[in-house]
Amino acid sequence: MSAVIQIPIDENEIISYNPATGKELGRVENTSAEEVKVAVENGRNAFQTWRKTSFSERRKLIMKAREIILAELDEIALLISHESGKPVAEALSMEIAPVLDLMQYFARNSEKLLKPRKIGIGLYGLLGRSSKIIYQPLGVVGIIPAWNYPFSIPLGETVMALMAGNTVVLKPSELTPLIGLKIGEICKKAGIPENIVQVVTGAGATGAALVEAVPDKIMFTGSVATGKKIAEAAAKNLTSAVLELGGKDPMIVFADANLELAAQGAVWGAFCNAGQSCSSVERLYVEESAAEKLTELIVTETKKLKVGIGTDENVSVGAMSSERQLNIVKDHVESFEKDGAKLLTGGKSDGLFFEPTVVVNANNSMRAMQEETFGPTLPIATFKTEEEAIKLANDSEFGLTASVWTKDSAKGKRVAERIEAGTVCVNEVLYTHGIGQTPWGGFKNSGRGRTHGIEGLMELVQPQHIHVNKLAILPNAWWMPYSKTAVETFRGFARYFASGSLFQTSKLSPQLTKRIKELLKKK
Ligand code: NDP
Repeated sequence: MSAVIQIPIDENEIISYNPATGKELGRVENTSAEEVKVAVENGRNAFQTWRKTSFSERRKLIMKAREIILAELDEIALLISHESGKPVAEALSMEIAPVLDLMQYFARNSEKLLKPRKIGIGLYGLLGRSSKIIYQPLGVVGIIPAWNYPFSIPLGETVMALMAGNTVVLKPSELTPLIGLKIGEICKKAGIPENIVQVVTGAGATGAALVEAVPDKIMFTGSVATGKKIAEAAAKNLTSAVLELGGKDPMIVFADANLELAAQGAVWGAFCNAGQSCSSVERLYVEESAAEKLTELIVTETKKLKVGIGTDENVSVGAMSSERQLNIVKDHVESFEKDGAKLLTGGKSDGLFFEPTVVVNANNSMRAMQEETFGPTLPIATFKTEEEAIKLANDSEFGLTASVWTKDSAKGKRVAERIEAGTVCVNEVLYTHGIGQTPWGGFKNSGRGRTHGIEGLMELVQPQHIHVNKLAILPNAWWMPYSKTAVETFRGFARYFASGSLFQTSKLSPQLTKRIKELLKKK
């Protein structure tokens, strides 16, 4: 297998490598801060035209982009596998298929989801007023994704931003620039006009330059540390940012669960994408009486997994994306052993490949049960009661996703609602990022804001309140000049009108008439 590779970064270019083989895949421009600024300006100019396009025009372009992806399906899957190290199987199942679904959903439904909405304004309505909300696009959306889902995350966010009427400047990770550029190429081939989607390549500094260039929104996916830096830099210009950050997701397995299914779910949840998913199962808590059986099943399933180069269709666990990430995994496995946990299988690395590793006798006091690993490890701990399971699951700075496994659906839902996480699945694991209709985002240090779903779309627009007075013939009682009559009327507003009751408000009529007459006389 491969030798561990370093990513050299030149002042003018970055080199993309295949982490599985160490082979160079290509070189791309290291975009300067000045060029990033120009890209944001170009995006802002292009926004003036794009915002006026109809939903149907946008829909046609996104559906065209889908056709292009389908026409180049295998080529794109191969590129994702080559640049990220993941198996082609996962490029198809975890990136391309879900984002194609998201594309058709938002292409077809954004108009309905962003339909102007009338607001009931109670007694003000009786005074001839009406209110509605319309959703205005923001302008330029800066997208800064991580390298772990380098196609589906930035493309999904791009599609949602475009459907909402925004333009996009995307800065892919330095580890996956070719996939970022591929997104730009797909948009261009689909006929999306110039400067509506721009891709700027480079390392962290290019991402920082994008934040400094003051886009109208930042969609960031990455670590808590970088998320904090971005939040700080964005705050200087009051730029709002959605932050999709790390996770240490728990899986709770009760003794009454279907243990065979739970074991398979745990293995996929912990080892897919070589464990480099923000919603990977990173802590498994099993009810004590089922621990031995579940562990045995997990180890058996894990030993079936082939580790290797992702283009081999029988490979389940591909290469890790970088040496930095590999070193974190090694450190956590060592630290588990030092702290008294025991490895039942795995634990070794070869180049950037790390064996899927099952650890038992883990507990929450261990460092590796608290910090995000982001690699193919599955630590198992036990609990005795429902209450203890909830406490252990919530004992984390993170709260992205969680899962509860039981045949008792009332218990499943009861426990799910007490877990501090943005998504909690019952008898399911990890995959809901693939459902574009459902919101995605974390509690606690796992992030701020949402992507996907109506909640995600709302992050990409600003609500505008349009208020109309259809009876604009009389002055308002609360206008100037004030007087003794005015103050008495306002007392009545507080006592009667503010009750929301028509009957109470009717008591105010004589006073209101007096006040209006007073205002008319003063004209
Ligand atoms: P990083 O935080 O290192 O990087 C994320 C992105 O930010 C990359 O594009 C990176 O560029 C860029 N970047 C780095 N420094 C800056 C800066 N100062 N200003 C602006 N941009 C910057 O995260 P990783 O790429 O290592 O991703 C792994 C993390 O992402 C994990 O913690 C994982 O849990 C999280 N994640 C969260 C998801 C969620 O939905 N909640 C989904 C996927 C991942 P470059 O790579 O070129 O340095």
